[in-house]
Amino acid sequence: MTTDLTRSTAAALADLLTQGSISAREVAQAHLDRTAEVDAAVHSYLHVDTEGALSTADEVDRRRAAGESLHALAGVPIAVKDVIATRGLPTTCGSRILQGWVPPYDATLVTRLRRAGMPILGKTNMDEFAMGSSTEHSAYGPSRNPWDLDRIPGGSGGGSSSAVASFQAPLAIGTDTGGSIRQPAAVTGTVGTKPTYGGVSRYGLVALASSLDQAGPCTRTVLDAALLHEVIGGHDPMDSTSIDAPVPPLVEAARRADVSGLRVGIVRELTGEGFQAGVQTRFEQAVQHLVDAGAEVVEVSCPSFTYALAAYYLILPSEASSNLAKFDAMRYGLRVAPSGIPDPSAEQVMAATRDAGFGDEVKRRIILGTYALSSGYYDAYYGSAQKVRRLIADDFTRAFEAADVLVSPTAPTTAFRFGDKLDDPMAMYLNDIATIPANLAGIPGISVPSGLADEDGLPAGFQILAPAMRDDRLYAVGAALEARLAAAWGGAMLDRAPALAGSGAAVGPTRTKEA
Ligand code: GLN
Repeated sequence: MTTDLTRSTAAALADLLTQGSISAREVAQAHLDRTAEVDAAVHSYLHVDTEGALSTADEVDRRRAAGESLHALAGVPIAVKDVIATRGLPTTCGSRILQGWVPPYDATLVTRLRRAGMPILGKTNMDEFAMGSSTEHSAYGPSRNPWDLDRIPGGSGGGSSSAVASFQAPLAIGTDTGGSIRQPAAVTGTVGTKPTYGGVSRYGLVALASSLDQAGPCTRTVLDAALLHEVIGGHDPMDSTSIDAPVPPLVEAARRADVSGLRVGIVRELTGEGFQAGVQTRFEQAVQHLVDAGAEVVEVSCPSFTYALAAYYLILPSEASSNLAKFDAMRYGLRVAPSGIPDPSAEQVMAATRDAGFGDEVKRRIILGTYALSSGYYDAYYGSAQKVRRLIADDFTRAFEAADVLVSPTAPTTAFRFGDKLDDPMAMYLNDIATIPANLAGIPGISVPSGLADEDGLPAGFQILAPAMRDDRLYAVGAALEARLAAAWGGAMLDRAPALAGSGAAVGPTRTKEA
């Protein structure tokens, strides 16, 4: 029973809960048991909230028994990335500097999860302050990829992607500043959406780069992502960048999965050279599936994308260096007394705390950002990067005249091994080559599995991008592709392997050769 419940989609669990054939407590307990079984090996969580999850579940069961009308996802549990403020639950952002910080308030999206009656299982691991593509920059040790424990689960949201891929949670929340929802989804064979900028409230999301950050769903199916997106999306007066317009019908789009006559644009700059052969092959096959489903293919060119990575790595560190200035040893978390100074000044405590509390990648970006913003260089670096950002947005506007959605592989490679890119920041940054343009332009994107790469048998991701506020198209196209692939595979990719409960190392799907 336990195993079956953890392998169910959120949509299936919601149905069973509504019918009354299972209780919310059983569902929450099954996932907590799964975590007890496998998380020593996977390390998806920084904090598990057994008591809180069960008490929310009991409350849902009580209300259902009393005949109250509940949200469709009431009783479906969820894991939340540790960069999102949760009242009464530690929120560390994967950093030592926030060790022990317990927020006195909930992020808006957490309030919405709670209001829907969704038990929060715990807080998931991440690269420190969401800087990275592997979780190797977490101060608390990396998460592992359930497909191969020697490989990264993507980052920064590798805790959320691995939790979902190892059946510890049917749903998770991630955040995506340059790809941290989509790339982890790609390398774990799961689904991840970065909504339109302003589509999901950032209130209570600890900012990395405020003009790029968006929270969104991490799931195993496209429909589940749409269901979760509808819970967390929509206007919030607490976030001045929140869009005050209705969210398009996402669940309906996922259910209809209609792509007939839809123009699918292949972005020339985001395919081919630099992409692993098996990833590219799965991409091309996925496009063919969409054609078979009635879509039309066009090729588009976005020449400014060549500069996207460079612009991003000026804009992001600039905003991050400013956002991280608030960690001053006075207001939150860690405070370190400088050694050998009997009566230290506030500045000396601040310096000692930031030195001990931040890891190398965070320090690297603070230095980069501070430099890019310094008065003598502001125009040359930050100013130029902002101009490139405009050109990238213009490229998208033009491309969306020729196509209704744009597609590419999500990440250039499948999951790499721990240590492979850790000492080479540039190699790490290149993981985001295909995901970053969407953040710079504020448009929505999703990654859905496209299959297993032939050369290593690991999951590859297919990225779909749509114009701002047309997140519904992501779900229509994603669901159409998912259905075609499931037909070709004889089931969902993650479900092709039998459940591997019990043994410590057997935490997810086994790798099987692509049919
Ligand atoms: N890997 C990218 C970075 O390190 C993306 C991070 C993110 O989306 N949070 O900046």
